[in-house]
Amino acid sequence: MSTVTAQVRTQIAEAARILHGRRIAFLTGAGISTESGIPAYRGEGSTPRRAPMTVQDFLGSDAARRRYWVGGHLGWRSFGSAEPNAGHRAIAALERAGASGGVITQNVDGLHLRAGSSRVVELHGTMRGVVCLRCGQAYDRGAIAEQIDARNPWITVPENIVLRPDGDVAPKSTEGFVLPTCTVCDGTLKPDVVFFGEFVPADRFRAAEALIASCDALVVAGSSLVVNSGIRVIERARRRGLPLVVVNLEPTRADAWADATVAGRTGDVLPALQELLA
Ligand code: NAD
Repeated sequence: MSTVTAQVRTQIAEAARILHGRRIAFLTGAGISTESGIPAYRGEGSTPRRAPMTVQDFLGSDAARRRYWVGGHLGWRSFGSAEPNAGHRAIAALERAGASGGVITQNVDGLHLRAGSSRVVELHGTMRGVVCLRCGQAYDRGAIAEQIDARNPWITVPENIVLRPDGDVAPKSTEGFVLPTCTVCDGTLKPDVVFFGEFVPADRFRAAEALIASCDALVVAGSSLVVNSGIRVIERARRRGLPLVVVNLEPTRADAWADATVAGRTGDVLPALQELLA
């Protein structure tokens, strides 16, 4: 708590007063993982970059898919070495203590599961999985990473990769890239994540709704809520009259509806809430 200002401490106390005795649903975003070293798109811990690739771009050309897979492959390696932080662990501990009904996350990094949360709805999918768009065969990302390394031995040498200032991979590094393909039907592979321009699968959104229905408060942690699926989750909670607490370093799209906002780091604020509530 040493880095927490008196103002944030007051905000935490108010949030705890609202949440006391309630079963909490969490909705998390990229901000909860910045303290694990994974950059967000916006705000603190973000890297300035071009607009993310849309599903239309990805499906539209081999060149786009090559760029995606080279960047995604490098990103997956760094995701793989990231560890859950105090914020992820506090959410898992609140679930174990019966004070939380689980977490809906917009993140694809798998850190809630690794921190020990058991009821996790991964709204935007997961980097752990890859699917074939033709036959539906599902793969573990590790197996596809091995296929990529075997087909592109040069990619394992960091000097061969040229990054743009915005963090994207320069085309020079992707021209000779051999795409991974389905080992069953040779079809096009796609990571099991919801791209920009894609909808959250209906059954996954229903799982998020069911989680909200089983709880009686919602805490948003580390999300700008710029992406609409997060806002849809909040709408469901508002319809049910759940109190809303927002923990984010910057203002979010949900602040106007919030019963309390806490402008601190999730790695400080969530463990403090856990101490007060569990
Ligand atoms: P976002 O990048 O739009 O917003 C992140 C917010 O978190 C910002 O407002 C920022 O100020 C805040 N923040 C950063 N560090 C924080 C900290 N330590 N404590 C509290 N607040 C902090 O993220 P989003 O709303 O999740 O939307 C981006 C989309 O891209 C989502 O779909 C997201 O899942 C995806 N994405 C995922 C990852 C990941 O899996 N880790 C990383 C980048 C983007």
